[in-house]
Amino acid sequence: MESERYDRILAVMKRKVPDRVPWALWGHFPACKWLNGYSWEKTLRDGEESAKAHMALLRELDYNMDLLKVTPYYRFMAMQWGSKFEFINNEEEAETKEVTVKKTKDWEKLWVLDPKKELREFVRCNEILARDLRRVPFIYTIPSPIIQAMNGVSTPDQVLKDMKENPDALKQGLETITQTTIDFAKACVDAGASGVFLGIGGGGRIWKELDKKQLETYALGYDKRVLDAVKCPIKLMHICSTPAGDPKKLMEEGWFKKYPVDAINWASHSWTPVKKGKELYSDKFCICGGLDHEAVLRKGTPKQVEEAAKKAIESCAEGGGFMLGPGCTVFQDMPIANYNAVGRAVWKYGAYKK
Ligand SMILES: [Zn+2]
Repeated sequence: MESERYDRILAVMKRKVPDRVPWALWGHFPACKWLNGYSWEKTLRDGEESAKAHMALLRELDYNMDLLKVTPYYRFMAMQWGSKFEFINNEEEAETKEVTVKKTKDWEKLWVLDPKKELREFVRCNEILARDLRRVPFIYTIPSPIIQAMNGVSTPDQVLKDMKENPDALKQGLETITQTTIDFAKACVDAGASGVFLGIGGGGRIWKELDKKQLETYALGYDKRVLDAVKCPIKLMHICSTPAGDPKKLMEEGWFKKYPVDAINWASHSWTPVKKGKELYSDKFCICGGLDHEAVLRKGTPKQVEEAAKKAIESCAEGGGFMLGPGCTVFQDMPIANYNAVGRAVWKYGAYKK
């Protein structure tokens, strides 16, 4: 791809100094409150709806975002296996009505989903973006297999119980989810995506309830297979955390260096600060983040957003290998003025001196 944005992103992925700090924000754009007319629920059966909403958001902004991350409803694979979720009034949070794996025996029921059949529309979103965006690099979200198992295919309680009592059955399920995820990730890249965004930790409980050995087997083990299987220039990992579990200790002992990715992203406002993360990980990864997705991006004024962006740039931009981004998926009601405030801050403060 020939484009300034792509060059900027590739430079930071290789931990080099670009012309200016790149930026990206990501959220459930088809559910975005000020981007009327798109249906969050419809994106689960129509790839064009998802692609159009993402492109519409880019068009609405006053500043060019350097990278588009496509964020589908993260239980989209679970839905194909029969789990049910309720979408109401285009709200981004859909309540779980029924999960496919209700008991140990059910792990056998899963089958490897086909990117040309069950996952066709999600791949089609990539095809449309590749055709119509042309010079904007985009990446697609790939949920970690263990997170899919816990949140959507089954429940945290069932997975934790099977981990103790029936590890072979759980592993059989994880094999199927992993193979599905590998095939899907490859199909996205073949369709034109410049990379993948691996989300790990959603729900937070794995950080609290799995010991390090279990994390290596059930999280890293399967994640690594997905990441190693897909060949692409951008592999960005999001380490998610909620009040249910905090990965700060793992983060600060450098545990995440085991992941074969180019860049890491996490909620730096609630645990390891972004500057500290850069000190710990800049020998291995590009650092992405620095903006509190709730207190600042959702609830702050544009002036506060600009200040926060400036501060993140001042503390992390030196030496390159830094991209400004949110600590987690932005909320559907984040005001457009705050998106623009991030873009403006990057224009004002993000340029590197020649
Ligand atoms: Zn998150």
